[in-house]
Amino acid sequence: MAASPMLEWAFFEGQVVPFADARISVGTHAVQYGTGAFAGIRGYLDADGETINIFRLPEHCARLLNSAKLLRAELPFNRESLAQTIVDLVERNAPATDVYIRPFIYKSSVQLTPRLRGLDNELAIYMLRLGDYLDTSGVKAAISSWVRVPDHSIPGRGKLSGSYINAALAKDEAEEKGVDEAILLDHAGHVAEGSSCNLFIVRDGVLATTPITGDILEGITRRSLLQMAQEFGIPTEQREIDRSELYLADEAFFCGTGVQIAPIATIDGRRIGEAMPGPITKQLSDLFFDTVRGKDARYGHWLTPVRKRVAAPAD
Ligand code: PMP
Repeated sequence: MAASPMLEWAFFEGQVVPFADARISVGTHAVQYGTGAFAGIRGYLDADGETINIFRLPEHCARLLNSAKLLRAELPFNRESLAQTIVDLVERNAPATDVYIRPFIYKSSVQLTPRLRGLDNELAIYMLRLGDYLDTSGVKAAISSWVRVPDHSIPGRGKLSGSYINAALAKDEAEEKGVDEAILLDHAGHVAEGSSCNLFIVRDGVLATTPITGDILEGITRRSLLQMAQEFGIPTEQREIDRSELYLADEAFFCGTGVQIAPIATIDGRRIGEAMPGPITKQLSDLFFDTVRGKDARYGHWLTPVRKRVAAPAD
């Protein structure tokens, strides 16, 4: 059996505990009704081999607290103290590889009614070793028959646990069709996003992505790439994208914390573009990876560096 990717220490109910001890009751409201919100944050091992670079930590903390706000979850954390708790946990785990950090705010009461008010809330954080999640050299995608959950049903701009049923249905369907990732359309038939990633296309030199009012998660990688595109003078558009535009795109790629930047090779069996990855995808991808590995300082301010620490015997 493969070794567990989980790192040893978790933050749970206000303290650092062994991951195995971070346990909740089966009756927990968040378990029963999906009333949780989470973040997915990557820490990259710097080219120096000594530092973990956490990518856009303040932005992830801000989005998590916004997701918690949608759930009416009040917690004794603000953006700064949440970020510090995450940094402290990274230091404590002293990972020797790239990591994925999963903070989770959830309705912790054991209570029967599906509601948001009047329940207790908790924060838990755990971490695991994580390499590439989708093949970054070209993935196969297919349009899902599952429609992206609209904002007026479950707000998808936040990372709300329950809404990931929608993602899971689409991901299963995609995998059972023999492709890597699903593309979900919105209720009007426009392109929304992947099951766990945002989507960009390039048409005639213009980089286009669905606007944040298009039932997508307000992706932090997406926002970062829109800024990086300016660096290269690539024109960008945030606009509705039709399904047929996917087939005509010169380039298409998924982006997100997990998938990073995953060029799309085919959609519904149709080949996208000429090269894999296409030139704009490659430009952005190179800058992204050089940034997170600390090799290109232009966006160095997007990283929170945490020095690896040799654990003291008393730890
Ligand atoms: N959409 C969905 C549904 C996601 O789960 C993710 C991953 N968090 C993304 C988009 C990409 O968001 P980010 O770049 O902030 O990770």
